[in-house]
Amino acid sequence: MSGTARIVVVEDDASVAQLVTLYLRNAGYLVEHAATGERARALFDEVKPALVVLDLGLPDADGVDLFNELRARADTPVIALTARAEDAQKVAGLDAGMDDYLAKPFNPRELVSRVRAILRRASGMPGGGRVLRVGNLSVDPARHEVLVGERAVALRAKEFELLEAFCRQPGMVLTRDRLLEDVWGFAYPGETRTVDVHVKQLRDKLAGADAKIETVWGVGYKMVAPAT
Ligand code: CA
Repeated sequence: MSGTARIVVVEDDASVAQLVTLYLRNAGYLVEHAATGERARALFDEVKPALVVLDLGLPDADGVDLFNELRARADTPVIALTARAEDAQKVAGLDAGMDDYLAKPFNPRELVSRVRAILRRASGMPGGGRVLRVGNLSVDPARHEVLVGERAVALRAKEFELLEAFCRQPGMVLTRDRLLEDVWGFAYPGETRTVDVHVKQLRDKLAGADAKIETVWGVGYKMVAPAT
């Protein structure tokens, strides 16, 4: 679904804007950029984005005021970018609730990963908020909970997203490149070992699950449900 989602990036720092735009486009999103609050308001109405990435330090607008203004117009998810600790505190204290925020400097891959998570939650994508079950394994994306039988399993964020990707498509072979793109937000060859390492961690943590992540030699991995 990410393929058609439009994102407005509001950022006056040209280098940050370029980097964020590049990463989001590589992840398959349509990106429009605004360097000022005024442009952001116009784009917001024109583009009707699925999500806004909002730098709080703009030359012509107070980021929090702008956030409140956008939120009053539509319930679009907003990820804030903050440059200063006091901004982060301000955001954390907002009742209206930004959907997420990142303090600069941040890893653009992390931003892509948060965008993806928020859009997945927000979208009506099949299984968006539903508990995924494969064998005795259950994955609850909304609560970020994993159970093997009755046992709760604590997973790190990337492990969770990886497991979710497998459980959304049991039986399907997922290539390492595809998993890198879906979970880490980029698709550069040569970093696929990251996937292997996380799969190994998942297998260790999911001991006792009757669904298995199998290696498909030379291709990638697939989640295999137990025979019923
Ligand atoms: Ca700024």
